[in-house]
Amino acid sequence: MISALAAAKRGAQVILLEKGREPAGNTVRSTGLIPAAGTRFQREAGILDDTPELMARDILEKNDHESDPAMTRLLCEEAAPLIEWLADEVGCEMICHTDFLYPGQSVYRMHGPREGYGATLAGSWRTPSATTAASRSGRASRRRGSSTTGAG
Ligand SMILES: Cc1cc2nc3c(=O)[nH]c(=O)nc-3n(C[C@H](O)[C@H](O)[C@H](O)COP(=O)(O)OP(=O)(O)OC[C@H]3O[C@@H](n4cnc5c(N)ncnc54)[C@H](O)[C@@H]3O)c2cc1C
Repeated sequence: MISALAAAKRGAQVILLEKGREPAGNTVRSTGLIPAAGTRFQREAGILDDTPELMARDILEKNDHESDPAMTRLLCEEAAPLIEWLADEVGCEMICHTDFLYPGQSVYRMHGPREGYGATLAGSWRTPSATTAASRSGRASRRRGSSTTGAG
């Protein structure tokens, strides 16, 4: 879903095929909390000292250094821009939750909607603002005579 949104927002023509009744995916069942280090939402919550380096160190300590260090570091560097993109471009409500520390995390860095979590997150990327670009792509495909239907 996020890949489809990102591609559509960059101008690609995207068709999302979903076998379920609505394009929600497992996010709707999930806790919907995403770890990220160095976001403005952390700063707003008074957490000023988190970094991708610290986040990567926490992950590697938790998994006994089993994950690839370079890939771990890359994911940690990309997490903050992802959170801010979800808020600014997709319209997801985001806060940094400061009422519980996830196991292995040395600072508060779980982000998501204030309430509802996964269901709220999935709901927000099905709103008109999130799907306008995808819908435009769909109309363009139909004008060219495509018989495939999509949702998104
Ligand atoms: C209980 C729970 C809690 C979780 N908590 C978190 C969390 O806090 N933070 C976090 O980051 N992640 C969490 N996750 C994981 C997260 O939900 C998944 O990693 C994420 O939803 C995967 O997204 P996806 O788009 O790759 O796949 P999915 O969300 O699984 O979407 C795949 C979609 O493809 C559809 N599909 C399958 N086969 C076909 C077919 N043949 N034709 C058409 N459509 C098909 C399915 O119906 C589904 O909608 C949690 C997951 C669960 C179950």
